[in-house]
Amino acid sequence: MKTIILKSAEELDQFINKIKTSGQSLGFVPTMGALHNGHVTLAERSIQENDVSIVSIFVNPTQFNDKKDLDKYVRDLDGDAAKLAPIGLDAIFAPSVDDIYPKGTDYGSDIDLGGLDIYMEGPSRPGHFKGMAQVVKRLLDLVRPDKLYMGQKDFQQFSICDFFIKNLKIPTQLIVCPIIRESNGLAMSSRNERLSTNTRESAGIIYKTLRWIKKNQKSLSVDELITKATSKINKVNPFIVEYIYIVDGYTLAPIKSIDAHKYVVVCTVVGAEGVRLLDNEIIKKEE
Ligand code: AMP
Repeated sequence: MKTIILKSAEELDQFINKIKTSGQSLGFVPTMGALHNGHVTLAERSIQENDVSIVSIFVNPTQFNDKKDLDKYVRDLDGDAAKLAPIGLDAIFAPSVDDIYPKGTDYGSDIDLGGLDIYMEGPSRPGHFKGMAQVVKRLLDLVRPDKLYMGQKDFQQFSICDFFIKNLKIPTQLIVCPIIRESNGLAMSSRNERLSTNTRESAGIIYKTLRWIKKNQKSLSVDELITKATSKINKVNPFIVEYIYIVDGYTLAPIKSIDAHKYVVVCTVVGAEGVRLLDNEIIKKEE
């Protein structure tokens, strides 16, 4: 079966109307393209769980606070479509900026993020989560999916989406999918392509250290875990820890004691060769 490419909101609308009229279930995976196996896994999960699945490919200008980053972002629709066709994806939605923001890029950006944007990535990327929520909300309005698939890789991103979807009573269920990793444990990311071969190989130290934190969570304090983990990573050239936070998985606020919380996640950003490598690991989740 061929994957249909929908290039405008109008084409998408016609496609969605047919699905809704026939009562089929719809799964949706929003991406910015430059697809790797992590993205493909989200699409596969959607295909398994829904009658029809759509992946959007849209490099959203409102979530970039650095214009150079936006210009540098890899755009390769043909290459992306070639990765999605073999898994039997129904449709790709690849809209223009005008399709997504017909009333201007400020419109619809005033979404309540529940204060989840003030931690971790928030301070160093002003406006990023506001723009991210704006585009996800707009895409949900257009696609109207039953299920939305996002990766645990971007922990703060899916947490914010989870908040506003519930807060705005959007009738879409968020499904969070596990982090897909390279064979050495490095979380897959389009940015990994920018690392030299040696650095990409030794980047396994990041996940190894997150697992070390998980293993030692009962014997060391939060401060000790963070200090020791930071030095383990910084010892390996050229990696420099930007942050390691051990946070409450619901509020994203840094915590002092793991015992006092039911859901605990360690989140990190490590810099290497000008690339920011994001990763996280759930170290405790009690239902
Ligand atoms: P992006 O286009 O990279 O912003 O990501 C689109 C979606 O793919 C987001 O929900 C990400 O969390 C998810 N994603 C990115 N990398 C991975 C990965 N390594 N494993 C699982 N999901 C991922």
